[in-house]
Amino acid sequence: MAGLYDPVTALAGVGAVRAGQLESLGIRTLYDLIAFFPRDYEDRTVFVPIDRLEPGATACFRALVVTQPRTAHIRRGMDLTKLTVSDDTGKLGVTFFNQSYVADQLRYGEEYCFCGRVDESFQITNPAFEPAASAGRVTGRILPVYALTAGVSNKLMGKLVGQALDACAGSIPEILPLSVRERFSLCGAEEAYGTVHRPESFEALARARKRLVFEEFFIFSAGLAILRARRRGEHRDPLPNRDVSPFLAALPFSLTGAQRRAVDEILSDFAGGASMNRLVQGDVGSGKTMVAAAAAYCAAMNGRQTALMAPTEILAGQHYALLAPLFERFGFRTVLLTGSLRAAEKRAAREAAADGSASLVIGTHALLSGDVTFHNLDLVVTDEQHRFGVAQRAALGAKGRDPHLLVMSATPIPRTLALILYGDLDVSVIDELPPGRQSVDTFLVGESMRRRINAFIRRQAEEGHQVYIVCPAVEENEETSLKSAEVWAEALQRSVFPDLRVGLIHGRMKSAEKEAVMAAFAAGETQILVATTVIEVGMDVPNATLMVIENAEQFGLSQLHQLRGRVGRGKDKSYCVLFSSNPPPETLARLSAFCATTDGFKIAEEDLKLRGPGDFFGSRQHGLPAFKAASLTCDLDTLTEAREAAGEYLAAVPDRDEAELEPLRARIRALFRDDLALN
Ligand code: ADP
Ligand code: MG
Repeated sequence: MAGLYDPVTALAGVGAVRAGQLESLGIRTLYDLIAFFPRDYEDRTVFVPIDRLEPGATACFRALVVTQPRTAHIRRGMDLTKLTVSDDTGKLGVTFFNQSYVADQLRYGEEYCFCGRVDESFQITNPAFEPAASAGRVTGRILPVYALTAGVSNKLMGKLVGQALDACAGSIPEILPLSVRERFSLCGAEEAYGTVHRPESFEALARARKRLVFEEFFIFSAGLAILRARRRGEHRDPLPNRDVSPFLAALPFSLTGAQRRAVDEILSDFAGGASMNRLVQGDVGSGKTMVAAAAAYCAAMNGRQTALMAPTEILAGQHYALLAPLFERFGFRTVLLTGSLRAAEKRAAREAAADGSASLVIGTHALLSGDVTFHNLDLVVTDEQHRFGVAQRAALGAKGRDPHLLVMSATPIPRTLALILYGDLDVSVIDELPPGRQSVDTFLVGESMRRRINAFIRRQAEEGHQVYIVCPAVEENEETSLKSAEVWAEALQRSVFPDLRVGLIHGRMKSAEKEAVMAAFAAGETQILVATTVIEVGMDVPNATLMVIENAEQFGLSQLHQLRGRVGRGKDKSYCVLFSSNPPPETLARLSAFCATTDGFKIAEEDLKLRGPGDFFGSRQHGLPAFKAASLTCDLDTLTEAREAAGEYLAAVPDRDEAELEPLRARIRALFRDDLALN
């Protein structure tokens, strides 16, 4: 008998080539195969009389072959096999292209079951069929429809999954405790996996799906609970020195009331006997960076190190440029550690982190790398957290001894999702913008306004301000008519603003180039910065007062909100202009709604309504594992139940034997490992 985690090559007929094809679908083991859930189902259980067949619709029917099938060679490489079938209600012409072998399979005078789509002239082409006497494989059943890849047909996938199910019969572990299964009326694992691939009825399918969704959320919740318990378990001494007033006095502004409250909450966490787990949520521009900096200052005063992880190199570089001189004044050293630094620079930064000479280590994902170690890491700050997975947060935390954790997010997250992402965190909300901020006036315009907007750009520049122009694409692409940053920057510089300095920044540029462009813009050397969405997160140039977004229909609402957040960061009146030519009505409604509000929460809710939570943060930026069965759009109720059940189950765990827990742990590891690998 094959093991659940044996490679697919354990199956008869699966060699290296087939294994490679399956690999491209993320399938490596027998378990991967049985957990490769159909993306849809075709109902082939209903048979329709011939006179009820509707042109254009796929349907099944039983019929007799009433003419001898005839094959004609139309031209080289093209055969047509034709026959007529009939039932009590009517006749139907059937044609097969290049399948002359069917002439031997469809016998005159015998009855068959067919499945296919009748066309406008009441003909059917290339239907699936089987003898009526032995039907049940092709018709008369619910047919799973799988995601496919080159070389793997739906039929083959069905067969492979079936083989895997047979090979694993009896060895699919039951992750869910009996008490949980009974309480939520969930079917067993073996039945659930079998049924999603070979459903006998839609009721059975729904039961199986419910069980698999529950299982997946149970594993996810149990994983989070274990992480949480690990963090909460250890007692620690308070940080003795918690006076941050010298640091605050060194800032060019005084903190807003909301910032001050957040800092106080952090300081009181530092005073307690447990590790901090805190989310600071504040709209773009609310001043989260300085809140984190005050916390890092406090850690440094106590001789502890802080790691600040940002989602992009640009942002990490910007934090470094802002904070390094500030910390220097107090004799604290700051280093930057990103993937694109030169080897020698990286080595120096790593050494400073390892020997403790750097109090603040700012970086990107590079901080997670195995060769980065700390002398006494005690505060982990992740900025714009939604781009990091739960597992990454934990991975960085593991580099210290149960460090304090601070998560900064500008994304106002609907409650249910927040519960998943941050279920283990306390929350500080910065619900106040620094004084003097004016809301950003936003306009939706079409091409007819191009000259006036160009004049407006010029006026901003002449008044000493700066302008962002965001394009959806980097390079020109003939298939789309989307504005490309490269081409547009060049065109503007040459033909529209020859006397102004136009910069260009996009994700395909080398890091050093990007930094140079950003530095020039921050220093006011370039007036206009043509960019892709690389500037979406966190960039801070308060002198920029105009954000122009080309092909605005290409962007999600939350993304537009982030982009608009790049202006209105100083004391000057700021504007946002959305270009979109003749958007369809829904898009028009979406963009108009965006023009009407600057409230991040409202925008997030609207976005969620329009796109669903799975898509909420853009593809795979939400930091959640890739769920196989569960959908965050439809299954949130199940999530709540599964969370509760997992919590109760684990609470009773010390009494349980580890062997019982191992299958659950294996699945938790697999789920979170995928998460880490994919991010
Ligand atoms: P975000 O919350 O989006 O990360 P930042 O921390 O980047 O916001 O702050 C936005 C801008 O506001 C920065 O230029 C920052 O220096 C400035 N700022 C932050 N706090 C204050 C304050 N209390 N008063 C005035 N300006 C502030
Ligand atoms: Mg920020």
